[in-house]
Order: sequence, then structure tokens, then C-alpha cells
Amino acid sequence: MKTITLNKPMGMLIDGEYVQTKKTIPVINPSNEEVIAEVPDASREDLDKAVAAAREAFPAWSSRPTEERAELLMKLADVIEKNKEELTELLMNENGKPLQASQAEMEDSIRWYRAIASQRLEEEILEDSEVHKVVLQYVPLGVVGAIVPWNYPMNLAAWKIAPALLTGNTLVVKPSPNTPLSTLRMAELAKDLFPKGVLNVISGGDDLGPWMTAHEGMDKISFTGSTATGKKVMKSASDNLKRTTLELGGNDAAIVLPDADPKQVVEGLFWAAFANTGQVCVDAKRLYIHEKMYDEVLEEMITYAKTIQVGDPSDPKTGLGPLQNKMQYDKVKELIKETKDSGARIAYEGEIPAGKGYYIPVTIVDNPPEDSRLVQEEPFGPIVPLLKYKDMDEAVQRANHTKYGLAGSVWGKDLELAYDVASRLETGTVWINESQVMQPDFPFGGHKESGIGVEHGKSGLAAFTNSRTVMIKKK
Ligand code: NAD
Repeated sequence: MKTITLNKPMGMLIDGEYVQTKKTIPVINPSNEEVIAEVPDASREDLDKAVAAAREAFPAWSSRPTEERAELLMKLADVIEKNKEELTELLMNENGKPLQASQAEMEDSIRWYRAIASQRLEEEILEDSEVHKVVLQYVPLGVVGAIVPWNYPMNLAAWKIAPALLTGNTLVVKPSPNTPLSTLRMAELAKDLFPKGVLNVISGGDDLGPWMTAHEGMDKISFTGSTATGKKVMKSASDNLKRTTLELGGNDAAIVLPDADPKQVVEGLFWAAFANTGQVCVDAKRLYIHEKMYDEVLEEMITYAKTIQVGDPSDPKTGLGPLQNKMQYDKVKELIKETKDSGARIAYEGEIPAGKGYYIPVTIVDNPPEDSRLVQEEPFGPIVPLLKYKDMDEAVQRANHTKYGLAGSVWGKDLELAYDVASRLETGTVWINESQVMQPDFPFGGHKESGIGVEHGKSGLAAFTNSRTVMIKKK
């Protein structure tokens, strides 16, 4: 893949200025391991400046009519759209996701800004009698810290920036140090769009996140990332009782019902499990197949897997790219080794390109023990176990036997049975005969250790506000 070269150093957006730092962090293209850019390594003082600017901007921004804030979000969507080719190229190079997937992420983030800008969180009249009127208002929180992971940098930033700004908050956004380029460039393009200090975007190393969560000047942390980090965020944010929304890891189960047609479900199941090379929080990470058609599903899955090219993200024929970073690559390699060493049968191991890049083959494991690490933990890579079950209660019990509760899916013809099974899964989202469908007006969030709170829809907007109940005694 041709590595892009950035013709100028990347900067951060603080208080309306696009600023550089002396200390920088290298960004690596995971498909060839080349350093493609250097980005600012924000100091604590840089963070303080960004928070102070956001705080200063808050009174004026929060008093503007929602319509005006919405209009600026629409303009942000226009700016991204106008520059989507450049941003997509940055995204593909920093993340390693194939061209079509990078384009889809860009389109999705544009769609998201527009859709959220059209949503409204109106005040509600709870009572209006002769003697009493009660009004429920939603008031912005203040300064929001948005912390984003590396798997969907543009989308997951949009999920935070759009609702936070629409509801009248100001923002400090931190992309992952692994994938800061598209977000920083978007910030540069949007530099003069918002009043200064309303939207700040900063990049940094491992200290920056903890500084943000502990910062006294922040009123909320909207965090997407792993469960382990989410727990640290919650602990650190508790010092000044910051509001938190935590969108965390998952170990989603897909349950294939006894009446499913293996040929029909296999393509959907494959992408449910392997989308983004297994690096999606809601990828199906355990596939429970009824014993009566287990062998057939396994065989069809392998046949389908053979048709998917793993390789250079810029090649239009590529279906799956590399893992995004070395740490994740080493983790998944170690898990595959452990799975092999345990004696589990590897039913399929695909091909990867020779040479550099964090490539891992599509790996399908044949019915490993339920208590193996592969089944119990979130691999976040292209290795998936197919698991055999005998009856429905057993499948539901095994699907729910996890600390995670993000999402799940059910596949089969009998929609009543599928709905019944879906309603018994302890997760925030369940799909029937599809997967990973997200919409700006459908609340999304995790049960158990997959998170706290939701994003999207009216509840997603409300999460960026405090409620205020005003009671008026008329007489
Ligand atoms: P991560 O938790 O390592 O990092 C996420 C972000 O937090 C990054 O920006 C990182 O720099 C920052 N960070 C790291 N340590 C921090 C700390 N102590 N305090 C504050 N911030 C800190 O996660 P990741 O490896 O980037 O992403 C993969 C994980 O994210 C997976 O577990 C995946 O399931 C999860 N995820 C969840 C969702 C969801 O919506 N539920 C979506 C995408 C990814």
C-alpha cells in the first residue's frame, strides 16, 4: 500500500487555534508498519488550556438557541463531506481498515452529525392543573471530555461530539494515540466553524486520558474503550462526581436456532463475527450452533471464509485488513497460540500477505471448551469459536454466562422463537437475522460490565444534560 506522507505537521485544536507541540508521538500504518505522521503529545498545560477554553466558551454556547447549534453541526457534516476523500485516506492509513470500510465509516459519521443535529430534547410538562404546573427541563452539563478508541475513530467521535454540542455543552475530544490523524485533521478543517473553545481536540500519550478523567474542570466523561479502562475512568471521575457514559467491551453471542438454513445464515454470521477483522465491540465473539446442523454451518462458514481476501487495505478486493496496532496483534497471536496449545481443533486458518503488517489469518475454532480463554474473553481479532448446543435453555444460559452484556444476535426462521430467545439475552442490543445495525435514534449501551448509560436517541441526548424539575404553584 502506498503510504501517505503528510505535507505538514499535525496540530491540535485548542481555543480556536491549531497548535503544534515540541514533543510528538509517531503514528504507524498497521498494514506496513511505517511511521506516517507525528502528532502532538499534549502536556498537562495543553489540557488545562483546552479545558479553560471550553469552560470560558460554555456560557455563550449553552445560551444559544438549539437551532443555531444544530446548524453548526450540519455545517460540520458538510465540511467532512467536502473533504471526505482526504479524511478517508487518513483513516485507512492510520487504522488499516479496507477502503470500502473506511468510506463507509466516513459516510456514517456524516450521516450521524446530520441526524443528531435534527434531534431535539424538548422540555416536558409533567403537570398542568389549576393550581400547579411542573416543567421538566434538560440543562447542559458544562465541559465534556470525550475519549475515543482506535477501532472507529471518526464514527465514535461523532457519537460524542454531535450530542454533546447539540445539547449545549463544550468539548475536549481525545482520539486514541493509535488513530489520531482523521480526527485532528477534521478539527483543523472545522477550526473556524464553532466559536473558539467550543470544540477542542487534543492528542497525547498514555497520561492524557487519566489527566482528563481526573480534571476538576470537566463535568462529564463520555468514554468508549475497554472494560478494564472503563473501570479506571469511573474510579477517577468519582473525585468530583463527573457524569460518565461508559461504552465498553463485549463478548457477544450469536445463537443459530435449529430451524435456520445454514446456507442462508452463514454470510451474515461471518460478517457478524469478523467485521473489521474482529475489532468491533459488537462483533459476535461466540457462535452457538444447534447440534443438528453444526457440522453443516461449520463447513459453510469455511467455504465462505475462503472467499474473503485479507490484505492491503487500499486494494478494492480486500475484505479484511490488518489488526490496528502491535499490542492488539501480539495479544491475539498469543491467544491463538494458547488455543492451539490447548489441543482445540482449528477448523480453518486463512491466508495473510507475506512481509510486514499486523496481519492475522481468519481463524475458526471447532467447539472449544466453554471455559477456555477464547470463549470467556473478548479476543478483539479474527479468531472465533463455533460452539455446539443441544437445547434452547442451555444456549441462552451459556450466552448469558459472561460478565459482558453488550449485544447479541439470534438467527433462524421462527421469528417468535427468535424474539423469545432475544428477550432472554442479558444485553443492551439484540439483532434477529442481522447484526451491527446502528441508528442515531436507537439507544445503544451495555448491560453488566459492558458499560453504563446509552448513546443515541433521546436517552443519549439526555445523558449530556442534568434534569431540572421546576414546580410552579399557581395559586
Ligand atoms: P482502551 O480502553 O485501551 O482505550 C480507549 C481510549 O481510552 C483511548 O483513547 C485511550 O488512549 C484512552 N485511555 C487509555 N487508558 C486510559 C485511562 N486510564 N484513563 C482514561 N483514558 C484512557 O480501548 P481500545 O483498545 O482503544 O479499544 C478497544 C476496546 O474498546 C474493546 O474492548 C472494545 O470492545 C471497546 N469498544 C467499545 C465500544 C462500545 O460502544 N461499547 C465501541 C468500540 C470499542
